Amino acid sequence: MEIGLDNTLPTYAGGLGIVAGDTIYSAADQGISMAAVTLLYRKGHFRQTLEADGTQREEPVTWPIENYLKECGPRAQVEIAGRKVTVRAWEYQVKGHGGFVVPVYFLDTDLPENSDVDRGLTDVLYGGDERYRISQEVILGIGGVRVLRAMGYDSIERFHMNEGHAAFLVLELLQERLQATNRTQLQDEDLEAVRKSCVFTTHTPVAAGHDQFPLALAHDVLSRCPLLGREDLCSHEGKCNMTYLALRFSRYVNGVAKKHAEVTRNLFTEYPIDSITNGVHAVRWTSEPFQAVYDRYIPGWRQDHSLLRYAIRLPRRELIDAHEKAKLALLGYVEKCTGSVLKPDVLTLGFGRRATAYKRMNLLFQDMERLRAIAKAETPIQVVFSGKAHPMDGEGKALIRQIHQAKAELNGAIPIVYLPEYNMELGKLLTSGVDIWLNTPQPPLEASGTSGMKAALNGVPSLSILDGWWVEGCIEGVTGWAIGSSSRNYEPTVSNDSRSLYVKLEKKILPLFYENKEHFTDIMAQCIALNGSFFHSQRMIEQYVVKAYYK
Ligand SMILES: *Cc1c(COP(=O)(O)O)cnc(C)c1O
Repeated sequence: MEIGLDNTLPTYAGGLGIVAGDTIYSAADQGISMAAVTLLYRKGHFRQTLEADGTQREEPVTWPIENYLKECGPRAQVEIAGRKVTVRAWEYQVKGHGGFVVPVYFLDTDLPENSDVDRGLTDVLYGGDERYRISQEVILGIGGVRVLRAMGYDSIERFHMNEGHAAFLVLELLQERLQATNRTQLQDEDLEAVRKSCVFTTHTPVAAGHDQFPLALAHDVLSRCPLLGREDLCSHEGKCNMTYLALRFSRYVNGVAKKHAEVTRNLFTEYPIDSITNGVHAVRWTSEPFQAVYDRYIPGWRQDHSLLRYAIRLPRRELIDAHEKAKLALLGYVEKCTGSVLKPDVLTLGFGRRATAYKRMNLLFQDMERLRAIAKAETPIQVVFSGKAHPMDGEGKALIRQIHQAKAELNGAIPIVYLPEYNMELGKLLTSGVDIWLNTPQPPLEASGTSGMKAALNGVPSLSILDGWWVEGCIEGVTGWAIGSSSRNYEPTVSNDSRSLYVKLEKKILPLFYENKEHFTDIMAQCIALNGSFFHSQRMIEQYVVKAYYK
């Protein structure tokens, strides 16, 4: 449903899309023959502006599509609520380091032959109502297969559904088999054949987060597709359920971290669910100063990200200098953007991600007195926040206002900055330019999380809740620090977690940062060597090839 390829293409909302983009970049690096399909989003996600009190304003982002994408000739048609809707595709070419190209097709229904309603169906990401959403998923899944076929992709070996959003492609593959043999009745071998060709990655650890639609709506939009109502195909407990559709028709299913796969197995007990832990593209997410250091000391790292293990031997002076450059770049941006002047020698915490309730952006501010006492004159801290709330997410928006209130309340005792318009460029600036990357989700709701991986590539340790990838990536005091504990009798409540956060800051991190720089710098090297060298998308795509695509 979203792919984050480039900052100038507003076709992603957050982590899901950026992981998709990193996957495609690594597939291109490795010469894996793949094509990706998503929707165009002429009005983008949205542009965020913030008022003085943190109230979020949203504006559509229109972008010059023709400057970035090439229109493809072949078109396809899908039927939506009985109307014929023509779908065209625009191509973006992702080039790997060796020049191999993976095309990305952006589907678009804004054509004069379509009705006004249908022309708007590919305008906004995660906008509109249920009908809008299911119509988009028909375009993505069914339209996606048809557009690929129209372009001559007639021997696709595997279909990878990244989230359930694309699962209607299964219906199209079944229909193709019926049409090819002029039948109307599905046989077991049809189901088996489609199952052989599909794999599915789920990213959502809560049942409510999985797309499902009322059957009546699905029947209306899909024009009474005869396959819809069958309890063994799309429907589950009387709803058209995209996740069950994908689960039933995939030869391989995975969650995006070990812990997430475990949580998912508990949600969908009847399916075998493996895990492939997410990774980020090492070159895309490494700041320029660190790229220069790696180029000098770890030749070949761009082709083979696992070589970053040798970062353990990097001269500490080089690490310190590169980090200082990355930090100054961030602080320069902060000043330009907000007028706030942050100090380069003060411990800087960073927090950037979607502003939504479970991410608990305000965990740091649970006990203001305690926080003030920790950030005393000898051990000052400053914090940089960023993140957009979904336009319909009232709680997310309230969190942004709370950060602004905390900022006012602390009145400079702890300088706080909230940078508007979190995007990929800012994500890179932030994850590389702070000293500690903070992550405070409510377990077990973080499927993976990836921004801490970006930080690790830049020698920035995480202070994070033990959830998602951090369960695997955290070696206490070596690659960063855990908030809370994974022991059975620890309850991850807001008050327990915030207390743990304060203890780690006060007792572990601040003393190291201000009194034992040498040890702190070792931790930076360990982040790169242990986590940067593993939590990257090259390792991830290789696991997909071996476990999912060609097993
Ligand atoms: C990396 C990134 C994300 C995802 O971060 P998480 O830690 O996985 O939530 C979201 N938005 C942007 C702009 C990013 O760069």
